[in-house]
Amino acid sequence: QYSTGVRRVTLIPGHGIGPEITVAVQKIFEAAKVPIEWDEVDVTAVRGPDGKFGIPQKAIDSVNENKIGLKGPLMTPIGKGYRSLNLALRKEFDLYANVRPCKSLDGIKTLYDNVDVVTIRENTEGEYSGIEHEIVDGVVQSIKLITEEASTRVAEFAFQFARDNKRKKVTAVHKANIMRMSDGLFLRCCRDLATKYPDIKFEERYLDTVCLNMVQDPSKFDVLVMPNLYGDIMSDMCSGLVGGLGLTPSGNIGKNGALFESVHGTAPDLAGKDMANPTALLLSSIMMLRHLQLNEHADKIQNACYAVLSEGKHLTGDLGGTGKCSEYTNAIISKLN
Ligand code: NAD
Repeated sequence: QYSTGVRRVTLIPGHGIGPEITVAVQKIFEAAKVPIEWDEVDVTAVRGPDGKFGIPQKAIDSVNENKIGLKGPLMTPIGKGYRSLNLALRKEFDLYANVRPCKSLDGIKTLYDNVDVVTIRENTEGEYSGIEHEIVDGVVQSIKLITEEASTRVAEFAFQFARDNKRKKVTAVHKANIMRMSDGLFLRCCRDLATKYPDIKFEERYLDTVCLNMVQDPSKFDVLVMPNLYGDIMSDMCSGLVGGLGLTPSGNIGKNGALFESVHGTAPDLAGKDMANPTALLLSSIMMLRHLQLNEHADKIQNACYAVLSEGKHLTGDLGGTGKCSEYTNAIISKLN
């Protein structure tokens, strides 16, 4: 935090279309006079002392110092020794809650008009704890790790998020009927937290029932909290209800920092062609502004973005339009006031 009130934010443009959509966000922020200074870092994998590829130290130092970052998509090279850089970032900064708001947008026609759900996914353990081994030939075991500590902190985050954002209900999504101990513990932590937030309605639902009911009537749901794997799947499903990954923002929240990111990939087929849709990264950057309490700037940019989407004149190819990324960006800038 600078005395001038200018916040320094780590910027990870990423690969493929990442740099183009990042420039779009930077231009819009500049035009909207957002008091942010970007600290741009590269997150191309580098080989560490253990021989494995990981995040460059400069990027780690930058996030540790700034405590807040915006990130484009990263390419995960396929091959021995490479780890997912996204996973590495999540681990490095203990980004324990993944938040994905999915809201219907005017001008984006999907099967549903009334979606307004937020999925909150436990981001550090569960089925993705990475503990797998072969017991004997042809028999492998993968551990689903659930701890009271991680479940409690994500449950607390969900209830606090609901309260801060004037939401009414939190649904815990689980399969405690089958996974009695692991999901049972997760559910118990959610129940305990619910008692501390009497202003927020709490319900418990089986994952399969939520999938069924979500596609029948998404307006039944508000904030959903769940273990890692369920959250990974449900959050993409909910993105699909509102028009796909090109339109969905996300935030990864940790104790000592937060990283906001578009959830789509590097779209190598579009890279360098000025054809990418920057909306997901822009909406993620708006989430970031709200996290920084820069709500007026967030509202201003969000209104301009929604207005351009609703007019439909400058939509990019993925949304059925012929607009270039730069044209769409300029249209948003022209609506800032
Ligand atoms: P992808 O999301 O890059 O592409 C899937 C399809 O969606 C493509 O047709 C692409 O053109 C389109 N698309 C995606 N984002 C778009 C946008 N903003 N505007 C317009 N169209 C868009 O998925 P993929 O092809 O499976 O993965 C490509 C690379 O991205 C891989 O190296 C993968 O590891 C990486 N990846 C990274 C992340 C991340 O960093 N969060 C997520 C997923 C994939």
